[in-house]
Amino acid sequence: MSEKIRHFSHQHDLVLCRGGLEAPCGICNRLIRTDQNRYFGFECLYRIHEECAELKKKRTILVVGNPKFFN
Ligand SMILES: [Zn+2]
Ligand SMILES: [Zn+2]
Repeated sequence: MSEKIRHFSHQHDLVLCRGGLEAPCGICNRLIRTDQNRYFGFECLYRIHEECAELKKKRTILVVGNPKFFN
C-alpha cells in the first residue's frame, strides 16, 4: 500500500516509502536513515523526510492564513 502526494516544492508525484536506502533529504539536506519513512520521486530519485513534507505543508497553511505573522 502506498500513499502518493503532490508536493509544492517538487514537480513530480512523491510516494511514501517505509524505509529504504540512506540518502540526503531534498529539503533539510540531512541524511534519511534506512529505517525512516520518506517521500520518494521515482522519476528523478528525489526524496524527502516524511516529517519534512508535513512541516512544509503546515508552514504553507500558516503563511496563507497569517501573512502578518512573518512581517
Ligand atoms: Zn522529481
Ligand atoms: Zn528532511
